[in-house]
Amino acid sequence: MRVLLLGGGGREHALALGLAGDPSVEQLIAAPGNPGIASVAELRAVDPCDPAAVAALAVETGVDLVVIGPEAPLVAGVADAVRAKGIPAFGPSAEAARLEGSKAFAKDVMTAAGVPTARAYTCTDAESAARALDEFGAPYVVKNDGLAAGKGVVVTNDRAAALRHAEECGRVVVEEYLAGPEVSLFVVTDGEAAVPLLPAQDFKRVGDGDTGPNTGGMGAYAPLPWAPAGLVDEVMRDVVHPTLAEMARRGTPFAGLLYVGLAITADGPRVIEFNARFGDPETQVVLALLETPLAGLLHAAATGTLAGHPPLRWRDGAAVTVVVAAEGYPAAPRSGDVITGAEVPGVIHAGTRRADDGALLSSGGRVLCATATGADLAAARDAAYALVAGVELAGSHHRTDIAAAAVEGRITIPG
Ligand code: AMP
Repeated sequence: MRVLLLGGGGREHALALGLAGDPSVEQLIAAPGNPGIASVAELRAVDPCDPAAVAALAVETGVDLVVIGPEAPLVAGVADAVRAKGIPAFGPSAEAARLEGSKAFAKDVMTAAGVPTARAYTCTDAESAARALDEFGAPYVVKNDGLAAGKGVVVTNDRAAALRHAEECGRVVVEEYLAGPEVSLFVVTDGEAAVPLLPAQDFKRVGDGDTGPNTGGMGAYAPLPWAPAGLVDEVMRDVVHPTLAEMARRGTPFAGLLYVGLAITADGPRVIEFNARFGDPETQVVLALLETPLAGLLHAAATGTLAGHPPLRWRDGAAVTVVVAAEGYPAAPRSGDVITGAEVPGVIHAGTRRADDGALLSSGGRVLCATATGADLAAARDAAYALVAGVELAGSHHRTDIAAAAVEGRITIPG
């Protein structure tokens, strides 16, 4: 099989490793890719958000599958443009990607499908936002209605700050606060059949102990030793299948990767958000444990044949990834610094580029993801931090507590 992968971050480097490791893949092409992806794929300088350019590249290279990593190409209609050429694409249509692209649309689908989630109001002016904030009380949760690359959500006890965010965004979803540990569940689907991957947990705040501003994600681990028995089955029954049925009923079936972000509350799992693509950096740990060949799985989802796909096989043990971020991230990341020690197995490239002289340079807020597996979570965590210790990047920072609470048995479900 020949595969074209779109994107150039850490998630795509992890996908590239999985795709290249599938014995059925004879050629992997990536656009635009990154220096890490370049070690397993041929890179093409095509804009992944340009539907016509991507479709032309897919035709030119004669690929059997296009795998779309980030959300922006999905919302731009890249999957539709590729499918219009008769080429299978892993990723939802622009219409179906609204599950991620619009928080208000996602809430509407969840309500229609009876999916357990936070109560919420969509507000377009300060008065209605203020009313909603006062009805739910603190902590306040205000979400920008549009795509904000994971950074459009404010969770705060400061009512004035919550209201300011609502006013700045214009159209927001104000919702009740969900208390409980968070779970990311990835589901591969062809619109009807659906296959869950291992649940993972990521770390959104920049600082140890969940302090500081939200980021794109500072680390992740899988599996979750503290997850309630039957969690995945319950989420498939109460969330995933009703959502897929509602999307199909609307004439916009969702095929691709449905990312279910959940809080495990005293009343059970509640959906925090849907995404329409693999999460970053959870992908790095989930795929590190997947033994089933990745391209075959994604091809089955892209061709409506997932029901006939064999059950997934997983490696024993656990995986941990620790993000190494640039100085100033998330507010104002510095780029262009030389990185050494990063071209070793397990170090996933998220924001790197190659200088003309061959040096590896930082080129984004999240620069690298030190990813390791181990016999258990403690061993995987030690191995991931050993990788971090081998990387040199001036001014970089990382969290030191990724997976620590899980290793130490400190995660509890309220109630
Ligand atoms: P989202 O972009 O919707 O995932 O929100 C980003 C982060 O904000 C989530 O990972 C949660 O940590 C937090 N968050 C979002 N919605 C809620 C909620 N209703 N209750 C508690 N925390 C939330």
